[in-house]
Amino acid sequence: MSNNNRLRIAIQKGGRLSKDCQELLKQLGVKLNLREQRLIAHSTNMPIDVLRVRDDDIPGLVMDGVCDLGIVGENVLVEVQAERERQGAAFEVNKLSKLDFGYCRLALAWPQELGVQKKSWFEGKRIATTYPEILGQYLKREGINASTVMLTGSVEVAPRAGLADAICDLVSTGATLEANGLMQGDTILESNACLIQNKDLTDQSKLDLINTLMPRLRGVRQAKE
Ligand code: ATP
Ligand code: ZN
Repeated sequence: MSNNNRLRIAIQKGGRLSKDCQELLKQLGVKLNLREQRLIAHSTNMPIDVLRVRDDDIPGLVMDGVCDLGIVGENVLVEVQAERERQGAAFEVNKLSKLDFGYCRLALAWPQELGVQKKSWFEGKRIATTYPEILGQYLKREGINASTVMLTGSVEVAPRAGLADAICDLVSTGATLEANGLMQGDTILESNACLIQNKDLTDQSKLDLINTLMPRLRGVRQAKE
């Protein structure tokens, strides 16, 4: 790994947060030469390198100090934190700012034909999710004994496919749930994209650069209000 003084920022390579992340960096005045397939993009006007990775890898890269900053959904951050805390790995980060994109909620859903259900319905049921830690904590809090099935994609088809009784998945408009004949229940977590920083960052030139970017970020956020 090259060890230089360039600030490393991890963003999602291809997905729902990518465009907004690139737009935000542009608004912060970070000029990038983004070539489609490249993992790293070097800024042409600031000592910044942007790493483009899967969103699931972003919290760990920042927690382990491989990257100094990262932009990731709170849903992914909270899940990775819980998983790493349980494993005894570094899990803390400095949350520098909530961002104004990537809004979604992690919610329970079940087949529409079952109609409205109380929490007690989940007792003994099997729930498919990509977020077993967050779901597990919710079930524990609510005193519900249910099992979880981990699926990294197509969670919404799990009930129809006979893999689970219900799901716990990300929802923004609810259109996907509706298209899959699912009824939305309790929200377990509300999420936005957020900017996180490695908590042990001590390099003064990097900290100075972050300190010049933060007021710009606040300006961008205020302009949107
Ligand atoms: P990757 O290939 O990087 O792992 P992914 O398929 O896991 O991508 P995306 O679907 O691109 O992830 O979603 C990235 C993030 O966008 C989510 O973790 C969440 O924070 C946010 N998001 C906003 N709205 C939604 C939504 N309706 N469904 C899923 N994620 C959403
Ligand atoms: Zn992902």
